[in-house]
Amino acid sequence: MAYDITVIGAGVVGAAVAHRLRKVLPDVRLLVLEKEPKPAFHQSGRNSGVIHSGIYYKPGSLKATLCAKGREMLYEFAANENIPHDRCGKLILATESDELPRLHHLYERGLQNAIPGIKLLSAAEIQLYEPEARGVGAIHVPVTGIIDYKALTERLLALSLADIRYQTEVLKLRGHSQGYHIETTRGDYESSYVIACAGLQADRLARLDGLYPPLRVVPFRGDYYELRPEARWKVRHLIYPLPHPTYPVLGVHLTRMTDGSIEAGPNAVFAWAREVYSRTGFSLRDSIEALSFVGTWRFFLKHWREGWTEYRRAFSKRLFWRSLQRLVPSLTEEDLIPARSGIRALALTRDGRFWDDFYFVAQSRSLHVLNAPSPAATASLALAEVIVQKAIDTWQLSISVGTGGVSIHR
Ligand SMILES: Cc1cc2nc3c(=O)[nH]c(=O)nc-3n(C[C@H](O)[C@H](O)[C@H](O)COP(=O)(O)OP(=O)(O)OC[C@H]3O[C@@H](n4cnc5c(N)ncnc54)[C@H](O)[C@@H]3O)c2cc1C
Repeated sequence: MAYDITVIGAGVVGAAVAHRLRKVLPDVRLLVLEKEPKPAFHQSGRNSGVIHSGIYYKPGSLKATLCAKGREMLYEFAANENIPHDRCGKLILATESDELPRLHHLYERGLQNAIPGIKLLSAAEIQLYEPEARGVGAIHVPVTGIIDYKALTERLLALSLADIRYQTEVLKLRGHSQGYHIETTRGDYESSYVIACAGLQADRLARLDGLYPPLRVVPFRGDYYELRPEARWKVRHLIYPLPHPTYPVLGVHLTRMTDGSIEAGPNAVFAWAREVYSRTGFSLRDSIEALSFVGTWRFFLKHWREGWTEYRRAFSKRLFWRSLQRLVPSLTEEDLIPARSGIRALALTRDGRFWDDFYFVAQSRSLHVLNAPSPAATASLALAEVIVQKAIDTWQLSISVGTGGVSIHR
């Protein structure tokens, strides 16, 4: 069967795009291709499960605007569709007095980003929200929440009414005048248009399509610990440190998940494989691609100090615990049980910078989402609106309603 539009990747971004396509083009013949046996198998199902407020991002950036919009869309969608979630709020702590200027700067940024209800707290006020947390000051962010992103992804895909093919890896994209001939591990497909939302494989999919993106996906693993059940009382909701000023992570934090467990992490270390989750996971292809890219080495040179700290912490439970103990002093090393890992797609440029905003490229019959880092899960519904609109505009699709229903034309 020939399809109108094929979405590659059944993570939360691909699922949100498929859902949006069905909304604006109700009769579209829609195909979703996913190489894994189920949805949300990579980043979307291995993240911290947080609905971010949008406080951190550069005002006016896509991240800032789409996180704020997507957050509210997500709360509404989750409530309507019974997706487990909780608008529980979070604390961002300054633990030393020399961090206070950065805390105030972040608070100002939150005001510029119009984050509702944010409040600066004194050391004493912290305990009103999190009795076991300690700091010299904090920001309370009431609109932050938690959600089950796997359940969200599954629901979006179900509502998209797309034909979904799992365990079907896209190997080749051959463009022709009518669209694409798509070769996969489970047969070939014809599709007029393609939207690739391939997460950790985004740059490779772009190259399959003849694009040479100015960035390379370099994998960074994040390990989590879980609090043993008897220690869960020490954390009510979400407790974060101040983010590192230049390293692209939020710092190890404590997160209550929607199932009531408390997770601690993630750290961020260079990974030797894009999709292997053990601490010693290795892929020759992925390692060669990452280490033969000049941007990776420039990034290492710029951030060797933070990288070294993260690396030591990845292999030392004691160091991990000490980072968490700065936030909640009553946590003991025995409270922490090693848990799962996730891998972030860090998009690096040749000069060793990380691409800090969402980034997608459209051409005559395809669109590639090349960078969808955190908070892309929070922003997914709003991001999908922008992606689909960009595709429709670039492809000059028009929607016409006739006797046979709604159809799309070029
Ligand atoms: C450790 C960690 C913590 C995070 N915490 C948060 C958080 O709390 N809140 C938040 O908003 N964001 C968070 N993020 C970011 C968020 O999870 C990602 O931005 C988001 O999940 C990206 O979704 P995606 O659909 O683009 O990618 P993915 O979820 O990685 O999905 C891409 C899909 O494409 C498929 N695919 C790739 N290549 C092919 C191919 N050739 N053929 C077929 N299928 C293919 C893959 O198998 C995969 O399923 C976190 C990320 C990580 C890693």
